Amino acid sequence: NLQNGSSKKRLDVVVVGGGLVGSLEALYLAKRGHRVRLYEFREDIRKTPEVRGRSINLALSIRGRTALRDVGLEKHIVESYGIPMYGRRIHRLDGSTYNIPYDANTKQGIYSVGRTYLNSLLLQESESYDNVERFFHHKLIEANLHKGSLTFLKTNTNETVSVTADLIIGADGAYSSVRKAMLKEPLFDFSQKYIEHGYLELCIPADENGGFQMPPNFLHIWPRGEFMMIALPNQDCSWTVTLFMPFIKFKNLDTEEKLLDFFEAYFPDSISLIGRKKLLEDFFGGKPSPLVAIKCRPYNVDNKVLLIGDAAHAVVPFYGQGMNAGFEDCWLLDKLMQKHNDDLSKVLPEFSDTRWEDTFAISDLALYNYVEMRDLVTRPTYLIRKALDDLLSWALPTVWVPLYNSVTFSTMPYSQCVKNRQWQDKILKRAFMILGLSILAGGGYSYKNNNVTSDMILLPIRNIFKKLF
Ligand code: FAD
Repeated sequence: NLQNGSSKKRLDVVVVGGGLVGSLEALYLAKRGHRVRLYEFREDIRKTPEVRGRSINLALSIRGRTALRDVGLEKHIVESYGIPMYGRRIHRLDGSTYNIPYDANTKQGIYSVGRTYLNSLLLQESESYDNVERFFHHKLIEANLHKGSLTFLKTNTNETVSVTADLIIGADGAYSSVRKAMLKEPLFDFSQKYIEHGYLELCIPADENGGFQMPPNFLHIWPRGEFMMIALPNQDCSWTVTLFMPFIKFKNLDTEEKLLDFFEAYFPDSISLIGRKKLLEDFFGGKPSPLVAIKCRPYNVDNKVLLIGDAAHAVVPFYGQGMNAGFEDCWLLDKLMQKHNDDLSKVLPEFSDTRWEDTFAISDLALYNYVEMRDLVTRPTYLIRKALDDLLSWALPTVWVPLYNSVTFSTMPYSQCVKNRQWQDKILKRAFMILGLSILAGGGYSYKNNNVTSDMILLPIRNIFKKLF
């Protein structure tokens, strides 16, 4: 696909899926001068009112921002559109709240952005490139990956269209048809995991003056151990509220009375914010959606096909990294295109070889973060560890980067974020060991001279150890 010398061939690229990641990738490829045809199953999102069943807003963090920067959209999204959230605001059972800043030292935040707005903006931006064509109502139904040929069904006319391309980008989401075709490829590994919890979106409307009913610069959480509710602010001063809970619990809330009793018991302060009538309407008007984590590799077939975004690595949403990781794919792919002068025979295998470890890592981290958000944030041991991390990162900002910060506020590869945390755990474990031994020595002295039992000394130390690491 490459020519000699510095000039490179203009590639004919088909991007399957015009969601967040496919639309961004189209821009990156257009910027490199390639011909891009973008095929999307649904109607043009710029003409579609909000559809239920896909998260309405999302948290954008540094990886996504970095990718948007390269296509000239970061500034607008961050400075004029997104709503910054500087920490978690925890709602206790009695309705009182407290804040846990994401980064107590640098006061960095993540940004709440609307899915429809961002997707529309990306598609709109592609209109400024003559080398991008968009085809909506086109559903991929058949693929010959080695030949680079694809067949689409035009869902509004029932006709089929076949196209060929030098490069096929599969950005068609968690239930990807491109990936389905790859399942037949030898040595293609694939696994999917549904968690037993689903999610349902509710809404806190703006107040009567059109303002926010809660402080807007936080991600609000109602952590309740086995389940939780969260809320992200919208640009119209409403809130998208998401209830995450085991499916069985959703199923048991089958009458209005049971639902209201449940909210009275677990989220009492939210009832007046949502409004009783709206709560009943929204809850019974929707149904809980499943959450799936997908791992697969390699992401490419020869120098013809590449999976990116959720098609390659759907993750559960608890680290707010699905879109960010997908955007980072586009950024990394562009770096490789630059490095190899768009030689797909080098770019695609290198992307596959270098990316999977990081996407597997964020997938596991996202599962862990559900436990942190719904349960651990309420525990003193979590708060002690957070305070320790904040203190150490304040004292040693370049050396001690806490896990959440490395994932959310840095572009450190995800797998490195995990290794970093393991290294930090080891150091803290040793420090606590030394502290524990010193206390033990002191305790032993008291034990000998006063009326102190060994359990009074050993049990608290053992418990702190167990919970902190
Ligand atoms: P999608 O957004 O799924 O887009 C795929 C596109 O492909 C769709 O438009 C679809 O219509 C199209 N398509 C599918 N099949 C075909 C076909 N056969 N032919 C043609 N087109 C097809 N991420 C974050 O970073 N931050 C968050 O805060 C966050 N919150 C989330 C909350 C929830 C509840 C959920 C479920 C996810 C959240 N995510 C978040 C994850 C984020 O939504 C996804 O990672 C992101 O949408 C992936 O983008 P994508 O373009 O790869 O896939």
